[in-house]
Amino acid sequence: MRLIDVHGHLEWDSFSKNIDDVIMRSRENNIIAAITCSVYTTTIEQTLDLVKKNKGFLFATLGFAPSDYKKRSDTFTTYLEQTEKNAAKIVAVGEIGLDYYWIREPDIRKQCEDYFIQALALADKIKKPIVIHCRDAEKRTIELIEEYYQGDRIHMHCFSGDEKLISRCLKNGWWFSIPTSVINRKIHQTLASTVPLDRMMLETDAPFLSPIEGQKINEPKNIVLSARYIAKLKGVSIEEVADITTKNAIELFSLGL
Ligand SMILES: [Zn+2]
Repeated sequence: MRLIDVHGHLEWDSFSKNIDDVIMRSRENNIIAAITCSVYTTTIEQTLDLVKKNKGFLFATLGFAPSDYKKRSDTFTTYLEQTEKNAAKIVAVGEIGLDYYWIREPDIRKQCEDYFIQALALADKIKKPIVIHCRDAEKRTIELIEEYYQGDRIHMHCFSGDEKLISRCLKNGWWFSIPTSVINRKIHQTLASTVPLDRMMLETDAPFLSPIEGQKINEPKNIVLSARYIAKLKGVSIEEVADITTKNAIELFSLGL
């Protein structure tokens, strides 16, 4: 069995002391690769270093956290420059998108949309897939992708929109990753039952969204739990879930595995 965790933040401080152990535990649990996502320009260098050290297992994406626009000190211009400069070292642009749960002010929301459109243009320019974060702004996010992104590799991460919006994305040919929280969160159970296996991947969003009660830090090996849950939900074997989601991840992100 081979599994891939397509979204997490392994450069996060939570892993600074034990990343080697986390990766070893992943490998022991049939995880063959993990994609780690930097969301600040201040973590780009350490993310790329980490990926270089774990070549063939870790892959990087570079994003600009849509939830943090108000309190951050780094600038969007720096993000665009750094991402373009490091294009050869990354597998996607993101996470990018809109977060209207954290951003309430109309003028800042407008600014966020403008940033998002610029990030979509950059992804087209460097010919990369996009990793999308959206919260309480699902419909607007989808509209902007439909209008501004020319590419056809779209990864909706940890999506919490309703079935109608999920169907719209599926009709567009987009992909979804099911978070490990599927084992106990209704909203992600709806996502898992609506998305067919051939458009599905698995993610942790580590260190966040741990599916295990009392365990603060999520890690890639936990996608075994969601793979098992999805197998039961879809009435197939866990090996089939692993095979298909892994194949999808390799294809979408051109992982060359
Ligand atoms: Zn994330």
